[in-house]
Amino acid sequence: MSDGQADRRLVLATRNAHKVVELREILRPVLEQVGLELVGLDAFEGLEDVVESGVTFADNALLKARYAAAATGLPALADDSGLAVDVLGGSPGVFSARWSGPLGEATGLSRDEANNVLVLAQLADVPDGHRAASFVCAAALVLPGAEPGTVGEEIVRHGHCRGVVAHQLRGTGGFGFDPLLLRPDGRTLAEHSAQEKNAISHRGEAFRALGADLTHRLGQLR
Ligand code: IMP
Repeated sequence: MSDGQADRRLVLATRNAHKVVELREILRPVLEQVGLELVGLDAFEGLEDVVESGVTFADNALLKARYAAAATGLPALADDSGLAVDVLGGSPGVFSARWSGPLGEATGLSRDEANNVLVLAQLADVPDGHRAASFVCAAALVLPGAEPGTVGEEIVRHGHCRGVVAHQLRGTGGFGFDPLLLRPDGRTLAEHSAQEKNAISHRGEAFRALGADLTHRLGQLR
C-alpha cells in the first residue's frame, strides 16, 4: 500500500457475492478481533478463474486459495463444498455443481433444479434408513510467501452437516441441494433461515475452525 500502512484485507477466492456476505457473517468475530476486511476476487483487477481440477474438496479449496494468495500477495481463503450421499459412495461429491451435466439445458431446468431432480431419481427406490447424506466443506487458508508470486503456509479444515435425502424437494431458502437435505428436526436446509443454517452448516463448521488459525496467524500482523 502506498501510504506505508499494512494492507489489512483477506481475500476470499470467489466471485460469488453471496458467499462473501455469508463468510463475513460467519467470520465476523474473528475479522473484528484481528482487524481484517474480507473481500472477494472482484476487488482486484486481472485475476483469472481457477479450474477446479482436484478430486477432493481440499484439493480444490487449496488450488483456489493458492492462486489468490500468490496473485494478490495477501492471505487468502477458499472453500470447496458439495453433497455426499452415503449410498452413492459419497457422490456427487466434488462434482456436485455439475452433477446433472447437460440435463438442465435439455429440460429447461436450472442447474440446481436439474441436480436435485437427478439425485431424487437416483434414490427413488432407496428406502428410509439408507438415505443418509452430508454436506461437506473444505476451507483453506493460504498465506503469501516471502517472494512475490509465491505462497507460504497452508491450512485446511473440514466441516460436515449431516441429514437424509428427502423424498421430495421442500423449502425456498438457500441454494443448491438445500431443498433435498432433511435435518433431524424434520426441516430441509431450505426451510432454515440464513442464521440457522450458518450455525449448523458444513461451511460454518469449517470456517469457524479455520477462524482459530486465522486469529493465531494473522492477529500478530497488527
Ligand atoms: P461450492 O463449492 O460452494 O461452489 O458448491 C458446489 C456445489 O455444491 C453447489 O453448486 C451446490 O450444488 C453444492 N453445495 C455446496 N454447498 C451447499 C449448501 O450449503 N447447500 C446446498 N448445496 C450446496
